Amino acid sequence: MPKICIDAGHWGSYNQSPANPAYFESKIMWQLQELLCAELEKLGVQTVKTRQSPERDLPLEQRGALAEGCGLFLSLHSNATEGNALREDIDYPVSYVSISGSADDIGLRLARCVEQTLGTVQSARIEHKTGSGGKDYYGVLRGAWAKGVAGVILEHSFHTNSRTVRWLMQPENLQTLAIREAQIIAEYLGTKIPATPASPAQKRYRYLRDLPESDSFRAIIAELMEAGIIRGDGGTPPVIDLSHDMVRLLVMLHRAGLLDKNQAKNHNKENTN
Ligand SMILES: [Zn+2]
Repeated sequence: MPKICIDAGHWGSYNQSPANPAYFESKIMWQLQELLCAELEKLGVQTVKTRQSPERDLPLEQRGALAEGCGLFLSLHSNATEGNALREDIDYPVSYVSISGSADDIGLRLARCVEQTLGTVQSARIEHKTGSGGKDYYGVLRGAWAKGVAGVILEHSFHTNSRTVRWLMQPENLQTLAIREAQIIAEYLGTKIPATPASPAQKRYRYLRDLPESDSFRAIIAELMEAGIIRGDGGTPPVIDLSHDMVRLLVMLHRAGLLDKNQAKNHNKENTN
């Protein structure tokens, strides 16, 4: 099963927006993490969170190391300008990706998804940042790469931009973002998006025993078979091959008294007479 490690970038109440004091990067990204994990699970991707509670911190490299056995490490953030200054002119998503280059493609795809979904002014980009010893500068990326997992730190534009903050504070917007990011990740991790299961209307029942017992479906069809209204193919057991819609119709007609057993018997007699 494909697996991803998701990291809400910060804990507690961290990185307040100068545009709206109610916005904290830590809190909004925690919400996004929860929505994203739920969407990923729906698509058959197993998720590992770096923290089980937003009130708990864990050192950067340890968070990255939790990606062991995963196909990707993803840390969720919103960016800030120098000195957390309000700057309405700066508005773009960026992915800081492993210097290995292994996450360049997915990093760019996710940043572009943010660009398109938020409608940012400037375009999406990726950046590599090398730290001491020729390793990744960012601790979480270092920690993940130590386990052989490429990582992405995805900045959902800037919380120093009031339009971005307004957008990110709408729960339905976060939901849209989670759905779109999950699709890209699932595709990247090579899962097939499960086909929509056949709707009950398309279902067919070959034998009586295939019918659901709920709402007396099976009992009513059995009664109609006994009355000779449904005859099947004469085999043992008889093949009835009825669609779910047809079964519903027969059940409804029976309930309305239109397929009364005695009437049916009389009708059969007339036919044989
Ligand atoms: Zn951050």
